[in-house]
Amino acid sequence: MTEATGIVGEFLSLKEETDADILAMQCGDFYEFFAEDAELVADELDLKVSQKGSHGSSYPMAGVPLDDLTPYLSALVERGYRVAVADQYETEDGHAREITRIVTPGTHLETSDDDARYLAAVVRDGGGDGGSSGSGEATYGIAVADVTTGQFLVTEQSGADATSAALTELYKFDPAEVLPGPEIRSDDDFLDEVRERTDASLSLHTTEAFAPGRARHRVREQFGAETLESVGIADAEAAVRAAGAVIAYVDETGAGVLASMTRLQSFDESAYVDLDATTQRNLELTETMQGERSGSLFDTVDHTVTSAGGRLLREWLQRPRRSREELDRRQSAVAALAESAMARDQLRETLGDAYDLERLASKAASGSADARDLRAVQETLALLPAVGELVAETERLASSPLGDVLERPDRAAAAELAADLDEALVEDPPGTVTQGGLIRQGFDTELDEIVGDHEAALDWIEELPEREKRKTGITHLSVDRNKTDGYYIQVGKSETDQVPAEYEQIKTLKNSERYVIDELAEKEREILRLEERRHEMEREIFERLRERVAAQAEVLQETGRALAECDALASLAVHAVRNDWSRPELSDGRELSVDQGRHPVVEQTTQFVPNDLYMDDDRQFLVVTGPNMSGKSTYMRQAALITLLAQVGSFVPARSARVGLVDGIYTRVGALDELAQGRSTFMVEMQELSNILHSATEESLVILDEVGRGTATYDGISIAWAASEYIVNNVAAKTLFATHYHELTVLGEELPSVQNVHVAADERDGDVTFLRTVEDGPTDRSYGIHVADLAGVPGPVVDRSREVLDRLREEEAIEVRGSDSGSTTQAVFDLSSGQFETAAGGSAGGGDETAADAGSGSGGEQLATDGSHAVGESAGGGSETATDAGSALDPEVEDVLDELRDLDVNETPPVELMAKVQDWQAELDEE
Ligand code: ADP
Repeated sequence: MTEATGIVGEFLSLKEETDADILAMQCGDFYEFFAEDAELVADELDLKVSQKGSHGSSYPMAGVPLDDLTPYLSALVERGYRVAVADQYETEDGHAREITRIVTPGTHLETSDDDARYLAAVVRDGGGDGGSSGSGEATYGIAVADVTTGQFLVTEQSGADATSAALTELYKFDPAEVLPGPEIRSDDDFLDEVRERTDASLSLHTTEAFAPGRARHRVREQFGAETLESVGIADAEAAVRAAGAVIAYVDETGAGVLASMTRLQSFDESAYVDLDATTQRNLELTETMQGERSGSLFDTVDHTVTSAGGRLLREWLQRPRRSREELDRRQSAVAALAESAMARDQLRETLGDAYDLERLASKAASGSADARDLRAVQETLALLPAVGELVAETERLASSPLGDVLERPDRAAAAELAADLDEALVEDPPGTVTQGGLIRQGFDTELDEIVGDHEAALDWIEELPEREKRKTGITHLSVDRNKTDGYYIQVGKSETDQVPAEYEQIKTLKNSERYVIDELAEKEREILRLEERRHEMEREIFERLRERVAAQAEVLQETGRALAECDALASLAVHAVRNDWSRPELSDGRELSVDQGRHPVVEQTTQFVPNDLYMDDDRQFLVVTGPNMSGKSTYMRQAALITLLAQVGSFVPARSARVGLVDGIYTRVGALDELAQGRSTFMVEMQELSNILHSATEESLVILDEVGRGTATYDGISIAWAASEYIVNNVAAKTLFATHYHELTVLGEELPSVQNVHVAADERDGDVTFLRTVEDGPTDRSYGIHVADLAGVPGPVVDRSREVLDRLREEEAIEVRGSDSGSTTQAVFDLSSGQFETAAGGSAGGGDETAADAGSGSGGEQLATDGSHAVGESAGGGSETATDAGSALDPEVEDVLDELRDLDVNETPPVELMAKVQDWQAELDEE
């Protein structure tokens, strides 16, 4: 292939310089994409491709007008591409081009929604080179920045579970782009996890950016020399490396938003309730399991009136707090707002006019804010005193922590900036900063003079036709301006003979002639000069204003956050009032008592039956049983959500509640979505269980829904049993465990801190009514068949199920029936032996001997569990009672067993052992 030259050659060599996926190169008034990039972009964005000939070859080409690039960039970036932009600039001999910025998913300012958009860097120190399973303990450093708001957080993870903890942190932020440090780049396991669980693009930034010294320098430069010490991360090298890499990356991509990153925050996990990604999903905090926003907790409780308020409320739900003090503060503010209806409405109405100051700060810093944006800054800053007054006027609010929220921003600086902007900018500025019309009269004397002259010149032009008409007597005479001819005088054909000599003809049209005169040409030059000067001056003044705003990014951010907090608190109050929620009492004990509680989301769409929950040290582990569809999951999620809402500072859906603060909420519930992802549900189930058993503490809340369901009954029941014991004895977390394994209810009878509760149902004349109330004690029946009936399963199947169930209860056997309506039994499945027995004539005697039940009374009525055996075995706690009650055993056999038990294997010589075994065999043979 011939080497491309000319414009395509230039494109291809610029492309070589960058590791971006796509290059957009300015060619005059367009940004062009060539070759493969053209095809890709055309495909993604529905652009037309044409062919560009270049020295005998031809290349695909696609382009967008200069001013339209941003939406195309946004679309590409949203699809995960990194796009380099090369701009054209003038040189002595023509022009040249160079890459001025790289737009990436994590550094792009334009967003189509209000959500935070995170760029993250992850590094690992120590832990060997061999990936996440390497030897020695690793420390992970994570930095996340939201360039659209200037938020910047760092954290470190170390210890035995550092890898999974680091991944969990990443999932929490759901970053748009991740910069893996040099050690992580070769760790495919880690990267695969990130790919699987987030939509992040992985960008390989230069290794030097992660170097400790360099990173530390950058962090100091960005946030101030003392910051590392004051934030307490001076010794956290991994965190510092990650932070430095983020700063370097943001800088090098050329987005120009560094100035908006004003504050480094150390993300101290111990301040927040641990909520892993699975739990966030299970509890449907921000989207439902089906991935819909509507129907999520956030969607339900969100009544915010600003995008910043919504963003903050969402963040609160995703990161509930552990600090009693902080929660008391939020609760008091919500309570005050809940009690002050009028003031609350006014406050929300006022806040409704606020723009997103945090985002505007980033736009100002990057230089992309226009005059309308600065007006928005001014109008929003000006709301602060208005909101402050509203709060001050209402005693109940003024004495609440809301007052402090509004004290936080530098009100004097905000007022001064607002006043300056107001003085400088016209009321309703245009959306472009190059065409003038931005600056108020009276702001700058020099500008006023130029504007005065400019307007006088325009007036002169406006009056020119009348003057000329009077002078020449021509009636059809007008003055106009266009791009090619500039200003001209136009005279109708019929009167051209009256045109004076100084009129110089420049163009002939069908019905008229165009002329210029010296005076007009001179005025035109003056107007052009004044126009240019005016636009230039206005732009200069505007740029200064924008810089002034950027320099005050912190004031904008603080004010934005204060207003957002008022909005979020008011939203919580609105929801509490509208739904009759109550203020929960917070405590440090291990309790959770809820009187007449409801599920915050389900109560919106259903006539919800409230129910009670009572947990404390004596009722630390609740085994929740009840028919399918009776409301077990709802009840448990409700417990988790009430706890979570309490730790957001919100009121809760209950008549009253006392909530012992937790350090984490862990859930393991249905795994539909994992099924869809093609991961084995049972594997996922066990991974989640494992995570809970490792992470939960006695201060946690654990919700387990049907653990063990994904495997064979005996397997499942054993795991459920052992996990329950472990939680009760070793973890001691507050736990709700819904199960269809009836056997687990025995735990409630045997272990003091375990209690049974069940969701009540009523059966009358074969019909089941779900009462939805929760009562103490285990459920007494399985209603599965009734539910099948209700669901419309054909009559014969339902009837036959009842028969099978009856037979199971009586004989622990199911006979397999042939197709001729079941008169002949072809085989019998004996549950105790797990074998089929071919049995003509239907004598299914196989189960009889072993049917003797340990008599726990706990049922064994469910088809899935074939109950009584497992109960007998497990409840007895071991092998001694494996053969029930002993009555079936011969005394001779007992003797052998006794001897066997008493024998000390370590003390007995092998030969003697052999002899004994032979004796026993002989004795048993005689049996
Ligand atoms: P389970 O986990 O026992 O199978 P679910 O918790 O999934 O049952 O609840 C089944 C249905 O009952 C759901 O549609 C739920 O909305 C509804 N439901 C649950 N609890 C209540 C309640 N207390 N009041 C009204 N409807 C409820």
